[in-house]
Amino acid sequence: MSFSALDLSSEVLRSVRDRGHHEPTAIQTGAIPIVLSGRDMVATAGTGSGKTAAFLLPLLNRLHANKTTGVSALILAPTRELAAQIGHEFELLSRNHRLRAVVIVGGESMSRQIHEVRGAQVVVACPGRLIDHLERGTVKLDRVELVVIDEADRLLDMGFLPQLRRIVKTIHQAHQTLMFSATMNHGVEQVAREFLRDPARVNIGEVSAPPTSIKQAIYPVTQDNKAPMLLELLKRSEVDSAIVFTRTKSRADRLTKMLVRNGIKAVAIHGDRSQSQRNAALAGFRKGGYRVLVATDIAARGLDIPDVSHVINFDMPDSPDSYIHRIGRTARMGKSGEAMSLVTPEERITLGEIERSLGEKLTRVAVEGFAAPVIPNKARMVYSSSSRRQPSRNRRRAG
Ligand code: ADP
Ligand code: MG
Repeated sequence: MSFSALDLSSEVLRSVRDRGHHEPTAIQTGAIPIVLSGRDMVATAGTGSGKTAAFLLPLLNRLHANKTTGVSALILAPTRELAAQIGHEFELLSRNHRLRAVVIVGGESMSRQIHEVRGAQVVVACPGRLIDHLERGTVKLDRVELVVIDEADRLLDMGFLPQLRRIVKTIHQAHQTLMFSATMNHGVEQVAREFLRDPARVNIGEVSAPPTSIKQAIYPVTQDNKAPMLLELLKRSEVDSAIVFTRTKSRADRLTKMLVRNGIKAVAIHGDRSQSQRNAALAGFRKGGYRVLVATDIAARGLDIPDVSHVINFDMPDSPDSYIHRIGRTARMGKSGEAMSLVTPEERITLGEIERSLGEKLTRVAVEGFAAPVIPNKARMVYSSSSRRQPSRNRRRAG
């Protein structure tokens, strides 16, 4: 199928061609007609499957047709880096339109945002900074007719939900709402209803399944051996570039220092670094100036960095969904990639939950020189009652 079979304007079709996309992906084919019809929608599709264009293309189509003035569309994202990425993608796809997007995120100049919003029809924002602007009256959403909530399950979870409610309350008129994510558990679906009217549902593939092109493996290890084992894994030539996830910001810093001491070009991204440091880290990693990006879950969602060959869980994530998002930073848009998880006996409960959610047992791999601790195969059966409590107790906000 080609993009021209979708009911998009010639300008949008030209933009998508200029962008180098030849055929729509499954989520684009499924979602675009529904968005154009004006219906609310909840859409799920795997990581790296083209969800961004699935909402940006019909959004451009609609705003262009309306000859819109003022802010008519709002796109919400959970992290500053993801909001910036969506803003950048909008810029690329809107070259044949007279439409502007402003990215409204914390850590960047407020006055520049105030200036830019004046000429913008689209606001791409993180909830916190957007609320600052709404309270000061420097951004108004009263003309918004389309709301996109990207990584919706993350924005609907308990940390963000009150902010989401406050934002949506300021949109007085009827509007269309779209939600996108690679994961959407039943609990969030319930919460989502509050924001949706008779939504259409588009589900591509299995919800909460990673792309099949990711090769996943478990590396049993003791806590003390994690750092030496990581160094050993990074010696392998097939590890072109890797994102290494840690549980905390301080562990990310310490690990980065250790890697740099060992001659590996590594940089950290987490919530305790300044926005300019975060931007520099991500930009440097994107350009290939660093081989390793050490990150907290702040980088787990949505980031599209081409050619990340490996995702390494130095620490296990706190939930199966978070595992899906982290490893989804590799193997984007049909490419191949590897996910390696260093698992200590203490982390076996989380591993059991992940495997149960994936419906498969992941391959265990031994590394020469490292005696593997025993990780019980049936951890989830033996520990099933505590395994349910574990994630909430250990739940951490993304940096
Ligand atoms: P998701 O949001 O589903 O994780 P993205 O929207 O970030 O995925 O897209 C992943 C990558 O695929 C991006 O680099 C994007 O430019 C590219 N892409 C999107 N749509 C197409 C398409 N139709 N054909 C080829 N590449 C595409
Ligand atoms: Mg996305």
